[in-house]
Amino acid sequence: MSKLDFVLEEIVTANRILANEGIVDSFGHVSARHPDNPKHYLLSRARAPERIERADLVEYKLDGTAIDDGGRAPYMERFIHGAIYEARPDVQAVVHNHSPSVIPFGVTPKKLKPFLHMCANIGHEVPVWDCRTKFGDTTLLVTDMKMGRDLAKTLGARPSTLMRGHGATVVGRSVRHAVFISVYLELAAKLQMQAMPMGKIKYLSRGEVQQIIDRVNDYTLNRAWENWARRAGREMQPQDAA
Ligand SMILES: [Zn+2]
Repeated sequence: MSKLDFVLEEIVTANRILANEGIVDSFGHVSARHPDNPKHYLLSRARAPERIERADLVEYKLDGTAIDDGGRAPYMERFIHGAIYEARPDVQAVVHNHSPSVIPFGVTPKKLKPFLHMCANIGHEVPVWDCRTKFGDTTLLVTDMKMGRDLAKTLGARPSTLMRGHGATVVGRSVRHAVFISVYLELAAKLQMQAMPMGKIKYLSRGEVQQIIDRVNDYTLNRAWENWARRAGREMQPQDAA
C-alpha cells in the first residue's frame, strides 16, 4: 500500500468517526497534507462527512485550486485547510467542525480551557477567531485565502482555535491526532459548561498541559482510533501499511 493510499483511507475513516461521534453533522470536513507533495492537500468534495467515500477525495493546491475535481463541487471553506498548511509546516491534518458544545465559548467572554487530563491536547487556552474584526459583516464562512490566513494567524502554533458563532478548527501531526483532539475539544467544552455553575474550576496548569501533550504517542492515538473506527463501521489500517 502506498503512503497516498494509506492517507486516503485514513481521511474516509476520519470523516465517518467524526460523524459517528457527533463532532460533525452534515457539515464540517477533514483534510490531510499530501504525503508525497507538501504543497498539496487531500479533501473530500462537498459532501456530508458520514457519506464520504474514497472516490470523493480531491487533491488541492494550497490556494484551494483542485488538481482534477472531475466536475465535483468543492467545499466553500477549503481555504481553512490550505492556509493552515501554508503557515504550519508541522501540520499534517486539519479538522474543521461545528462541534456544538464549543459554540458558547466563541460568543461569550468565558475562555475554553482544559481541566480533564485527556483534554489537555486542545492546548492550554483555546483562542477565538472573530471574522468580524477584520472582515466586517460576512456569512462567517471562510471563503477565500485572506480569511484562511487570518484564521491561521489566530491559531498560531496551537492545536485548536474556536471560530465565533461558527465552530472550531483543529490541527494535528496525523489524521488520527487531529481527530483525537477534535473529539476531546467537544468533551472539554461540555464538561466546562457542567462544571462552571458548581464553582471555581481548577484548570490544568500550563506545565501540566505541556507534559500531557509531550506524552501523547501513537499507542494512545491508536487505542482510541481502533475503537472509534470500528464503532463507525471501518477497520483500523495497520500503521506500517503505508
Ligand atoms: Zn464551517
